Amino acid sequence: MIEPEVLSSCAKALVNYGIKEGLAEELDRWVLTNSIIGSLELPDPVDGEPIKDEMEAIALLHRYAQETGHHWGELPEEKFVGRVMGLLTPSNGAMARDFWAIMGDKGPVEATQWLYRISAATKDVRLDLASKDLRWTVSTSYGDLQMTINRSKPEKDPKDIAAPKTGKSYPKCLLCPENAGFWAKPGHPERSNHRIMPISLDGEEWFLQYSPYVYYHQHCIVFSKEHRPMAVGTRTVPRILDFLDQFPHFFLGSNAALPIVGGSILDHDHFQGGNWSFPIQSASVRRSWTEGSITAEALVWPMATLRIRSKNRQEIERIATSAIEGWKSYDDPEWEIEKEHNSVSVIGRKVKDSYEIDMVLRNNRTSEEHPDGIFHIRPSRHHIKKENIGLIEAMGLAVLPGRLSREMEPLLNALSGENPSTPESWPHREWAESLLERHGRANSIEKSKEIVEQEIGYVFMDALRDCSVYPEETGTEGLDRFIDTIIS
Ligand SMILES: [Zn+2]
Repeated sequence: MIEPEVLSSCAKALVNYGIKEGLAEELDRWVLTNSIIGSLELPDPVDGEPIKDEMEAIALLHRYAQETGHHWGELPEEKFVGRVMGLLTPSNGAMARDFWAIMGDKGPVEATQWLYRISAATKDVRLDLASKDLRWTVSTSYGDLQMTINRSKPEKDPKDIAAPKTGKSYPKCLLCPENAGFWAKPGHPERSNHRIMPISLDGEEWFLQYSPYVYYHQHCIVFSKEHRPMAVGTRTVPRILDFLDQFPHFFLGSNAALPIVGGSILDHDHFQGGNWSFPIQSASVRRSWTEGSITAEALVWPMATLRIRSKNRQEIERIATSAIEGWKSYDDPEWEIEKEHNSVSVIGRKVKDSYEIDMVLRNNRTSEEHPDGIFHIRPSRHHIKKENIGLIEAMGLAVLPGRLSREMEPLLNALSGENPSTPESWPHREWAESLLERHGRANSIEKSKEIVEQEIGYVFMDALRDCSVYPEETGTEGLDRFIDTIIS
């Protein structure tokens, strides 16, 4: 059993942490201490050795809750961290007031930085876990693609997997505003430390939050107040431009709004944004068109992409919207494109005083030969990446499953000659054999790692090409024909 002095030190460490990180003021010390004692049913505080690390304090409190049969003890570690940090997190109203005060006084760069720092301090954004992610770049004919293996997403809790999916749950989904302050239940994550910032887009109420899984710097999610399905249509571009006018240092993008080609959440209208440069931004231009203040460009990119640039907000809004609507009503039988299946991944950013809107054309048709999707990752690449190519990946940042770092061990061993045979039942066998043929088995450990990273990058590049509605070698005319219908 943990000694009362240690428990007191844990509570003290957490309160000190909250005050140091700016989550609370000195005057809150007694209130926070009592809230921790009361919530976890700790004994009365006594003097004890100080604990420096807040995560260590939380781990000890978790053990105490388990040993005493406190119901918080049943929470898996990640949810327990969120629950305890919820006690230290300022109210949503106070945070929104501070956020907008900083917006007014110092501007959007400082306001978003402040929010990011607070969200990380409350462990709503797990920067501590994200530092375990693997990141590298791979040079290709499209530029340097960005690769990540996400190791911060926790393994699924068996209770979550077993929870019934009724579709009538509260909150209705992971993005509903009702998640702010929500206490975990089977099938739904802990959000007691989660807060959302109200913003206005195209005259409508939306919210800004940071993503708990940090795929890139200041990865944020912008979602509608109302729980309603994703839609890419006439209101998409005005919303993006409104956002860029308020947060010009961020990009904002929308997934295509159809299964197979869209993101993982289709039932709540949302965008993803953040303060990050993606490879698509540096893509070179294959052909360009101009009309008035507008420049349209076909990019050299593994997925058929049209970029529109202008300093004139009205003009870009008009042309980009007509491109989206145009694609949604466009048939191209030569390339198996039927309008009912068309959607667009739309990305907006500001470059100096110009707006840029990238439109990655998508289509989710399936056929007998390709039941997963005609413009979808080919099965031969599923051992590396099976999930949909969503917005972030279409921009050239691969988010690969955590399992990959474990599964590459036999290949690294084979390339460096340590253990030349690869396992019989291993999903990567065929691919690995072709790599071994090309690179041999006498590579240094560093070289083997470099080869594997590079080859994973090439698979990702090919996966993006699989998803292109107009293949780059043979389909440029098809893309140009479509752009001709938008701009002359
Ligand atoms: Zn929702």
